[in-house]
Amino acid sequence: MSAPKICSKTLKLNTGAQIPAVGLGTWKSTDEECYDAVMAALKSGYTHIDTARIYGNEAAVGKAINDFLKETGTPREKLFITTKLWCIDCKHPEKALKESLARLNLNYVDLYLQHWPVAIPPGDELMPTDENGFRKVLPFEEWNYIDTYKGMQPLIELGLTKAIGISNYTIPKIEKLLNDPEITIVPACNQVEMHPCLPQDDLLTYCTEKNIVVQCYSPLGSTGAPVLENETLKSIAEKKGVAPACIALSWGVARNTVVLPKSVNPKRIASNVEVIDLSAEEVKAIEKIGVESPRRVCDPKWGTKINVFADSDRY
Ligand code: NDP
Repeated sequence: MSAPKICSKTLKLNTGAQIPAVGLGTWKSTDEECYDAVMAALKSGYTHIDTARIYGNEAAVGKAINDFLKETGTPREKLFITTKLWCIDCKHPEKALKESLARLNLNYVDLYLQHWPVAIPPGDELMPTDENGFRKVLPFEEWNYIDTYKGMQPLIELGLTKAIGISNYTIPKIEKLLNDPEITIVPACNQVEMHPCLPQDDLLTYCTEKNIVVQCYSPLGSTGAPVLENETLKSIAEKKGVAPACIALSWGVARNTVVLPKSVNPKRIASNVEVIDLSAEEVKAIEKIGVESPRRVCDPKWGTKINVFADSDRY
């Protein structure tokens, strides 16, 4: 039986750059947890960190990165850093990215993602809600995700990011984006919820055809890692003598996606970057989980009429 090994796999982006197949997620961690987690991850062999303006932890992430680079003499180019454009910044991506870079204390990021295909009225509030508790959004006709992406395209030439991409896009939305004559840069990545209970085979096939790398967020099912309770995953893990998390993450890597496990626990951080080979039968058994126990964990309520994941949704 082979033991899990630190994952050194990278995937080629449509820019020609390589993206490491495992990255550390940083959502829902406090500044202190986040600093320690990023430092622990970089010391455990991670070269890829995922953050976002809305996580409120870019400064802590950046401090850990810079301290690590200084302590170890590692060149900045050895790391792959992603941050994301929050929806209130839809009309001024250049300003937003410059502010993110200032918080991160970096000259550039490797990937800048449009966080959601939704525009929120610009203002001081990061997440304004209406009287029913729904997140406020701008009408599609006034400003939409294609307008936002157009504003992100110049950011590469400005040297602020090496690549741009999207997040939470369905196939119809990607099609709409790519069919717009003013879109000249195919997104390098689409970051979406993806794990054994939500394999999204069609979206993965479509993105692969379009040369868009899929990044799996919530690869363990988010807070509390509910995906790891699945009996098929548990039995494969037991047979191979590894933790269920290793199976879920190795499956994502085997499918040529990027996995972004979040942890603030040093032991888990270290183990999450280790993957194992899966047999064709094991991959097949894991594929069935999404059919038998489908589950989406991240589905925020954007306005009263919007379901960002419904293909029929005109937004
Ligand atoms: P994950 O699927 O990574 O799960 C995180 C949870 O699993 C935490 O409770 C963590 O606890 C626990 N955990 C981590 N490792 C293990 C392990 N080996 N065994 C058991 N439990 C474990 O959830 P996230 O939703 O955080 O997704 C990952 C990342 O993806 C985010 O952090 C963020 O960077 C990105 N993301 C992007 C989104 C987008 O819209 N683009 C949306 C959501 C996430 P503990 O910390 O205590 O170890």
